[in-house]
Amino acid sequence: MIVFNLSCSQDHAFDGWFRSADDFERQQRAGLVECPMCGDAQIQKCLSAPRLNLGASAPVEPSRADEAGSNTRGVSSQEVVGGSMMQGLQTHMLAQFKQFVLANTENVGTDFAETARRIYYGEEAHRNIRGRVSAEEAQALREEGIETLGLPPGIILDEGVQ
Ligand SMILES: [Zn+2]
Repeated sequence: MIVFNLSCSQDHAFDGWFRSADDFERQQRAGLVECPMCGDAQIQKCLSAPRLNLGASAPVEPSRADEAGSNTRGVSSQEVVGGSMMQGLQTHMLAQFKQFVLANTENVGTDFAETARRIYYGEEAHRNIRGRVSAEEAQALREEGIETLGLPPGIILDEGVQ
């Protein structure tokens, strides 16, 4: 999964998740990418990438693929997967992503926009938060310089948060 910072011809900014850059190009050409605020299909990729600020204390586990592949270091090749592995891998990565976000953020629910502002302006201690914002709130936050990362479709972090 790859996230792009997108904008429509009305300059609405939003995040879009795609399987790959090619997947985005294909959907964009077919007019399948629409602005969530106005439905405009004239979508462009912004140059700046969105950030998910989860702090520096995130646990980093050495991956087994690295260990197994250590004897091929220095060889000009790339490890790849394909075919039916893709769906399973994607599901696995989304589950890991969800687990990581849940473990490293505090749920502030629908107070997200307000809390994000207070943290941004130094009125509350810095911490990593998750929650829910409307498209308008996300846009307003972005205009104030507060970046948020939309979650990929299919990920529900906190059931029951409206
Ligand atoms: Zn728009």
